Amino acid sequence: MDTLATRLDALLPQTQCRRCGFDGCLPYAEALAAGATAVNRCPPGGLATIAALSEVLGTPVLPPDPALWPDAPQAALNADRALLPTVAVIDEDVCIGCFKCVLACPVDAIVGAPKYLHAVIADDCSGCELCLPPCPVDCIEMVPRAAALRPAEAMADRWRSLHRARKARLARERESRDEARRQRRGELLATEAQGYDIAAAIARARSRKTFHPS
Ligand code: SF4
Ligand code: SF4
Ligand code: SF4
Repeated sequence: MDTLATRLDALLPQTQCRRCGFDGCLPYAEALAAGATAVNRCPPGGLATIAALSEVLGTPVLPPDPALWPDAPQAALNADRALLPTVAVIDEDVCIGCFKCVLACPVDAIVGAPKYLHAVIADDCSGCELCLPPCPVDCIEMVPRAAALRPAEAMADRWRSLHRARKARLARERESRDEARRQRRGELLATEAQGYDIAAAIARARSRKTFHPS
């Protein structure tokens, strides 16, 4: 569907990093379309994205929000992209396989299972850095995106679809957890109902015993 929000979303870099303060690129685009936020909140997009968003919205080109680009020198702010693309690398000798980074990654770029070694699929890593804070042993490092990888600019569609697939999977998992909860509750209620029947049967038997003693 070609809504204003989807057109704005198409201009965003799709790292899904949440630096804009929204839960990913599409929610930011939706807020922009609703006139609820400003065009200067996407550091990975840099000045080019601010200009592109402003053009579609017909609003003034704002300077980058300094609160969101706190460490960037002026030269970087003037560059096409304020943040250079990076990828995460896991130090395999230190990783304890806790799975926390997998739960945090918005584009499912980390492979691993609980208690096993984890690794980053470098091409798919958007450089969002969301896996860094949860890692209990600080064994994830951000490094420049290697020239051998597909350039970040060419990855937006892939990151968007990975993020969508992840959200859909999480929604399915939530729904199946809710269904399991509903089933358990139904079984509990059935057991309780059975318990009441038993109690009533015991009461009836006792009352029969009172009126017809053996
Ligand atoms: S790339 Fe990050 S900061 Fe930019 S819109 Fe997407 S989630 Fe927000
Ligand atoms: S591996 Fe880390 S930096 Fe890369 S996309 Fe996933 S959470 Fe973001
Ligand atoms: S959060 Fe850190 S320690 Fe845990 S699995 Fe990921 S990289 Fe390994």
